[in-house]
Amino acid sequence: MIKGIIFDFGFTLFYFDNPSVERYYECFKKGLLKSIDILKEQQVWNEKLSNESFIKKFAKKREHFFRKSIKTKTEFPTSLVFQNVLELLKEENVINNIEHLKEKIFKELAEKYHSCEEEEWVPFENTRETLENLVERNLKIALISNHPNHKTIENMLKRHDLFKFFNFVLTSAKFGKRKPDPNIFLYTLDKIGLKNYANSVIMCGDEYADIIGAQRANLQTVLFERKYKFPFEKEINVPELKKIADISEILAYIS
Ligand SMILES: [Mg+2]
Repeated sequence: MIKGIIFDFGFTLFYFDNPSVERYYECFKKGLLKSIDILKEQQVWNEKLSNESFIKKFAKKREHFFRKSIKTKTEFPTSLVFQNVLELLKEENVINNIEHLKEKIFKELAEKYHSCEEEEWVPFENTRETLENLVERNLKIALISNHPNHKTIENMLKRHDLFKFFNFVLTSAKFGKRKPDPNIFLYTLDKIGLKNYANSVIMCGDEYADIIGAQRANLQTVLFERKYKFPFEKEINVPELKKIADISEILAYIS
C-alpha cells in the first residue's frame, strides 16, 4: 500500500509555457534588473559599472556554478552567486563597499532575480485536483525541487494556493545537495515520517535525477513524460519504468 508521494516541481506539477532559450534569458534579465535596483538602494552600485557588464559577469558566474552543481551534485544557491559576483566587482573596484550587506540582502537579491520566473510557471490543469485527491486518501505529500532559491518555489506554490497540500517542501538550495543524490530523498522521507517505508512511497518526476535518485533511495518511481525533450538530457535506462502523460494518471498507481 502506498503511504506517501513525492513530486518534482518543474514539468511535473508546474510548466513553463513555450520554453525557449530566448525566453529564458529575457526572463532572467528582467529579474536581474530588479536586483540592480536593490544594489542602488543599498548604495553599492557605482556609475563605473553598466547594467550590461553586470549582467554579463553575473551570467558567467551563474553558468560556472551551475556546471559545478551538476558535476558535484552540490547546490550553489543564487544568493551565493550574488555574493561571489559582488566580491569580484569590489576587487575590480567598480562598485562601492559591500561590507554592510547582510545575508538577508543576498537572499533578497536572489528572490528578485528569480521573480520573473514566478509569473511564468503555472500548474498543469489537473495538478490541483490530483493533490486534493491524494490528500483525501490521507497520503503524505512532499515536493523536492533542484532549485537554487528555496523561497522562489514556496512563492510559486503559494501564489497558486497549492502550498497547503504539502507536508514538506524541500529544495536543493535549502538541503545543499541536488537530486539524484539519494540523501535528499532520505531526508524527505524522514521529514514526512516514512523513513522506514521507502518502498511504499512514490517519487514522480520528469527527469533522470528524479527517477535514478529515488531508486537509489529505494523509492518507487513514476516518470512524467514531457511533451518535449531538453537539450543534453540524460537517458533513463530502467526496465519496465512506470510512466504517465498527465499528472492525474498518478492516481492509478495508488491502491
Ligand atoms: Mg522537473
